[in-house]
Amino acid sequence: MATLSHWINGRTVTADTDTRLGDITNPATGVVSGQVALGSKATVESAIAAASAAFPAWRDTSLAKRTAVLFNFRELLNARKQELAEIITAEHGKVVSDALGEVARGQEVVEFACGIASHLRGGHTENASTNIDVHSLRQPIGVSAIISPFNFPAMVPMWFFPVAIATGNTVVLKPSEKDPSAANWLAELWKEAGLPDGVFNVVHGDKEAVDTILESPEVASVSFVGSTPIAQYVYENGTATGKRVQALGGAKNHMLVLPDADLDLAADAAVNAGYGAAGERCMAISVVVAVDSIADDLVAKIAERTKTLRVGDGATEPDMGPLVTAAHRDKVAGYIDAGAEAGATVVLDGRENTPAEGFFLNPTLFDNVTPDMSIYTDEIFGPVLAVVRVPGYDEGIDLINSNPYGNGTAIFTNDGGAARRYENEVEVGMVGINVPIPVPVGYYSFGGWKNSLFGDTHAYGDEGVHFFTRGKVVTSRWLDPSHGGLNLGFPTND
Ligand code: NAD
Repeated sequence: MATLSHWINGRTVTADTDTRLGDITNPATGVVSGQVALGSKATVESAIAAASAAFPAWRDTSLAKRTAVLFNFRELLNARKQELAEIITAEHGKVVSDALGEVARGQEVVEFACGIASHLRGGHTENASTNIDVHSLRQPIGVSAIISPFNFPAMVPMWFFPVAIATGNTVVLKPSEKDPSAANWLAELWKEAGLPDGVFNVVHGDKEAVDTILESPEVASVSFVGSTPIAQYVYENGTATGKRVQALGGAKNHMLVLPDADLDLAADAAVNAGYGAAGERCMAISVVVAVDSIADDLVAKIAERTKTLRVGDGATEPDMGPLVTAAHRDKVAGYIDAGAEAGATVVLDGRENTPAEGFFLNPTLFDNVTPDMSIYTDEIFGPVLAVVRVPGYDEGIDLINSNPYGNGTAIFTNDGGAARRYENEVEVGMVGINVPIPVPVGYYSFGGWKNSLFGDTHAYGDEGVHFFTRGKVVTSRWLDPSHGGLNLGFPTND
């Protein structure tokens, strides 16, 4: 059985110091397809050292040369995206067309980074004081670590590394150990695109690798995406050692449906956003907040559509694939047990009629869910949609703003005034108006509020450029006949 190794300094590295391996499993069959080396402290330190050594030359490589590599990478990725999508499906389980969608959204950030030169322009002021000019510049920060989750093995790393590399940093990526192969594929693509060795490195591993990154004085920044408890851990420990950290956490995304909404459109959206990728999306809708007067109709429409979904091996292009591991499937099934026991109405029970092999659940729909139930309070991260009924808009927004997560949300309405009020009042980072999964395009920035993000900087777009660079302001005077004289006062501008 093949063992996936690290990618350090432009080549595959099998480290003698690694003593542990993890299984790579195809979730559609339950069959172990390979193993992945779990990096030891020494292995991770060698990747950080490679990135550190590559930094001085890459930082001083011209913008023209850096962007030429970015353009090459974009062309190669676009030409070979099917290969990457198939790798994702074989380890994550999602449907191939959905994996292609993930690659496309990552490619958007590569395309944004191709235009990095215009984002790195500084400002210049002539004669800020007599014969004194001032200009500002932004410079790369150094070794940038990326720690990513299982659910988007290509897109989430691509939220960060195109911008980090384009701005002149070097990267150590620690992908999820559950679906690690996409990261090595991307590393090889960088090499083919002409990126110098050591600028992009991949280390596989788990907590030991993450802790090594957090403790390393050579790592300047950490971009983390994963569950809220680990995001908080990474933020607290990374900042404690002086790093710049952006740590994106979990989510519980609500979709508020007002009585004037197009209920067919809302039902389509709830099904697509609730069950797509088996609910394993940080922007999945997991709670539909239905105003009482339309709740019966809406639940009926969601149920009718959900019954038609085809569940199967993602490689055969059904509507929905399996969950990522047996343990995760069992955890999600446990939430379905708990919801039924707590008294929620089970409209569709995903525990029934699942295939014998693989880590499958069918879509589950709960109605009459209340905010005290664990199916409401917890991020389930599976194909489970909960409907909470509310008397009207005010109760709906109170519920949503009381939730500790604030990643994404959507409102479905034909009332522009209500939509505008929602946009203004809702305490969530990404808002959709009649759009169920409002993932910002590559030239805006992605990030939630509250327990969905630790730190203050969102991913990619202008905020990404800001995160991966630091500002400098230069005040200059060149000798001319007006120079000279002593003055010990604080410099003022005249
Ligand atoms: P996870 O938190 O288990 O793992 C994320 C990363 O942290 C992985 O690389 C993993 O190896 C590492 N890790 C796991 N346990 C650790 C520990 N104890 N100490 C140090 N590092 C550890 O998350 P996951 O299950 O891979 O991904 C699903 C989660 O990610 C969900 O909560 C989902 O909402 C979240 N997510 C959030 C966003 C977002 O944009 N906010 C996007 C995608 C996923």
